[in-house]
Amino acid sequence: MPAYGPEVIGPPPRDTDQQFWDPDIQTMDPQRRRDLQDERVRSMIRAVFERPVPLFLRKLQSAGIESPDDVRSVDDLSAIPTIVKQDLRDSEADAPPWGEYRFTDPRAGVRLGTSTGTTGQPTISVWTRNDLFIEYESAARNWWRMGNRPGMIATHAHPAYLYAGGPMLSSAYEYFGFLNVWVPPPDTDELAESALRFWQRVTPDIPFMGFSTGRFFEVAAKLGIDPKSAGLEFKSMPGFGMGKGLPLMTAGAECYAYLGGACGRLPGAHIHEDWCVVQAIDPDTGREVPDGEWGNLTVTTLGRDNGLLRYDLEEACALLREPCPCGETSIRGLWGGRIKDLLSSQGKRFQVTELEGALRRVPEINEPTLEYVVVKPDGGGAPLVVRVECATAGDAAEVGQRIETLIGEHLGIRAACELIERGALPRSGYKTSRVVDG
Ligand SMILES: [Zn+2]
Repeated sequence: MPAYGPEVIGPPPRDTDQQFWDPDIQTMDPQRRRDLQDERVRSMIRAVFERPVPLFLRKLQSAGIESPDDVRSVDDLSAIPTIVKQDLRDSEADAPPWGEYRFTDPRAGVRLGTSTGTTGQPTISVWTRNDLFIEYESAARNWWRMGNRPGMIATHAHPAYLYAGGPMLSSAYEYFGFLNVWVPPPDTDELAESALRFWQRVTPDIPFMGFSTGRFFEVAAKLGIDPKSAGLEFKSMPGFGMGKGLPLMTAGAECYAYLGGACGRLPGAHIHEDWCVVQAIDPDTGREVPDGEWGNLTVTTLGRDNGLLRYDLEEACALLREPCPCGETSIRGLWGGRIKDLLSSQGKRFQVTELEGALRRVPEINEPTLEYVVVKPDGGGAPLVVRVECATAGDAAEVGQRIETLIGEHLGIRAACELIERGALPRSGYKTSRVVDG
């Protein structure tokens, strides 16, 4: 009989000195892992035919795949057409509310959440206990790899309710054994202050590092609160600043929230390949691009009750396969931002984060936080317009020129920098929009 008691809502304890959360899986022989992936791909395809799952079944049939026997391994995935977010949205609109892409009755799930809906109607995600278990274990590998251990106090400021990211992070923290301190997102100065005051009482062991970190620093400065007294500290994360992108850590809550994590020894994040196949594909052919090159991040989840097959997130990723000295045997992934956020100016294509890299080198505009927007370029030859908040009492023209020079060195383009007063740009409690239309 399975265990029944408080221990079933948490994992068995580990030796805190061991290097990996799940050594058997994380250091598994790559060929054995590939066999496991092949087996899980086959069982997913079988489920598409047998349940059936109409959205995916139609995709398979459109590619001439008529029986589960036609897809035997990861190698066969390239023949399957991808689906994108809009397909999920359309499916829910045509067959409300769930659409035709669920592998289980939604009532077999225990948690529901929606995507942020920044583009169009939010889609609905449903997790069974098994699906949550996969996310919790994946998150645990990431936190352990970073050197964090159960017993630490961890905090976050994600939005709540129907938005899935907050409940997911809170419950994954609890599963791992962190003391979970969930404060509201700093949508207003008052909310930011209440969080800061609480962190002064119960100070997290792991400094708050989220989308809105800058907001907290800014409000702390306004109130004369020493950020350190609230546990706030800019801390470099493993794998950031290595290679040409960021570590590929997530495919979004709707697909795979804790897809991978960086070890900091080589660029990129170790991908949890036992629970997914990640491909960097050329969207025109559906085939994988060579290792190290940007392609569309395409994920097939494995082992879930509710999976996604060949889901193209319309984001850029690059995969790296050379063995890592840390001992973890998975491939590694780099993330290059959303494809539609790629900016094009003067014949160069780049991400806003690359521009930010240049701005970070100018001390006068980084205290207490860097606040800027870029005017969406039309792809022509005009200088890129960047508006930056600056409180300097010194020579503003000199600061502006230095910014333009750094952007030129970093991105190889001409920029026109407009310095504006501190506080002039709108603030957001969660993800800040850096690209404006004019
Ligand atoms: Zn490694």
